[in-house]
Amino acid sequence: MWQDLPRPKIAIRQLRRDLRCDVLVIGAGISGAMIAERLTEDGLDVVVIDRRGPLAGSTTASTALLQYELDVPLSRLSRQIGLSRAERLWRRSKLALDALDERLHRLGLGEGCVRRSSLYLQGDVLDADGLREEAKARQRAGFEVSFLSRGEVDSVYGIAGRAALLGHGGLATDPRKLAAGFLRTALARKARLYAPVEAMDVEPLRSGVVVQTKGPTIRAQTVVFATGYEMPKGVPRKGHRITSTWALATRPQPRAAWHDEVMISEASDPYLYLRVGPAGRILCGGEDEASIDQDTRDSLIPEKIAALQDKLARLMPHLDPTADYAWAGSFGASPTGSPSIGAVPGMRNCFAALGYGGNGITFSMLSSQILSAAIAGRDDPDGDLFSFRRKF
Ligand SMILES: Cc1cc2nc3c(=O)[nH]c(=O)nc-3n(C[C@H](O)[C@H](O)[C@H](O)COP(=O)(O)OP(=O)(O)OC[C@H]3O[C@@H](n4cnc5c(N)ncnc54)[C@H](O)[C@@H]3O)c2cc1C
Repeated sequence: MWQDLPRPKIAIRQLRRDLRCDVLVIGAGISGAMIAERLTEDGLDVVVIDRRGPLAGSTTASTALLQYELDVPLSRLSRQIGLSRAERLWRRSKLALDALDERLHRLGLGEGCVRRSSLYLQGDVLDADGLREEAKARQRAGFEVSFLSRGEVDSVYGIAGRAALLGHGGLATDPRKLAAGFLRTALARKARLYAPVEAMDVEPLRSGVVVQTKGPTIRAQTVVFATGYEMPKGVPRKGHRITSTWALATRPQPRAAWHDEVMISEASDPYLYLRVGPAGRILCGGEDEASIDQDTRDSLIPEKIAALQDKLARLMPHLDPTADYAWAGSFGASPTGSPSIGAVPGMRNCFAALGYGGNGITFSMLSSQILSAAIAGRDDPDGDLFSFRRKF
C-alpha cells in the first residue's frame, strides 16, 4: 500500500571508490535512518549503505502503529524478569516514543504523523480479570491507562463482548515518509548514502573496522548493524527468533470507522491489531507465526488474509473488510518483546540494533539514543535491559 503512494525522494550515491568515515551504518530502513540522524547531530561523519536501497526492507511493510506498550504485558513481564526490570523496560519504551514525538516536531518531520490513543482488548492471553491486573500494574508504574468494562467498550467503540484498557500517547504515520525524513535530515548534515551496496565482510580491528563490499572497501571507526530481521554474521542470535506476519489494507471505508480512530489490538495469541490508515482504509494485521521461510510465508498470504478479514468482520460488523492490499513480512522477536541494542560481543568497534517485535519503530528511536551514548563512550542507564549479553 505504501508503495502505491508517491515515493519519498532521497539522494543516493554510487559507491565507486574506497571510503573512510567515523561511523558506517549498514541498513537504510527506519532504524538506520534514525541512527544516522542522531549520530550526525552528535557531529559524526556518517556513511549509510543498503544492499537493496533505502526503505526497501521491513520498514515498507510496516503498518506503523507507534506504541510504547510492549508485546508482553507488564504484569506478565514482571513475573518473567522481575518487577523493577519490567517497569524500567516499559518506562524506557514510553520515553523513547515521547522523544520520537518531540524530535519529529523539532526537526519538522511530523507532517502526516498523528497522535492516537490505544485500545487493548481482552483475548485469550488476558481476560477481563487479567486486564484489570494489567491496568493496576501499569498505573503503579506511572502510566495513564484506564480499564473499560464490556458495556463501555460496546457503547463507545461498538465492539461487543470485550473489556479493554485505554492508553494514550501513540502515533500513527507513513513509515516510508518517516524514514525518508530522518535520512534527508542526516544527509543535510553531510551524511552520505550509498546503494545498492552490500556489506559482504566485516573485519573489526584494534582501531576501527574494515568493511568489504563487492567493490570498494569502507574503513570506519565504528560500524552499526541496522539490518532489520536479517541477522549479520557474527552477531549472537541467542534469544532471538524470526516471526512472520501478515497485513491488509481495506478499501476506503465509506464512513467514520470508530470513535476517535484509536489504535486497537487484542491480548490474544495470535493477535489482531488495526488502525485507520490513509484515505480511511483500515490497516489490519497479525496471525504471526514463528520462523518459516519466505516462500512459505508468501504462499500463505491468501489463507492468512482471509483469517484477518474474518476476524475484522466479526469485531466490527459495520466495516467493509475487503482487502485492497495484502502483504506479508518478517520481524525479529525476543521472549521479553525487547530488542537487542548495543556493542556486539566479540566484535570490537561494532554495534547492532536488532530484534524488534511489534514495537519496531519505537525501538528504532530507542536504538538511536542508546547507540549515540555508546559510541560517545557513555553508559546508558537502561543499556543493560537491551544488551546482547543479557539473560532473557
Ligand atoms: C507487516 C509488518 C507490520 C509491522 N507493523 C509495525 C507497527 O505497526 N509498528 C511498529 O512499530 N513496527 C511494526 N513492524 C516492525 C517494523 O516495521 C520494523 O521493526 C522496522 O521497520 C525495522 O526497521 P529496520 O530499519 O530495523 O529494518 P529494515 O527496514 O528491514 O531495514 C534493514 C535494511 O538493512 C539492509 N541490509 C540487510 N543486510 C545488509 C547488508 N549486509 N548490507 C547492506 N544492507 C543490508 C536491508 O536491505 C534493509 O533495507 C511491522 C513489521 C511488519 C513486517
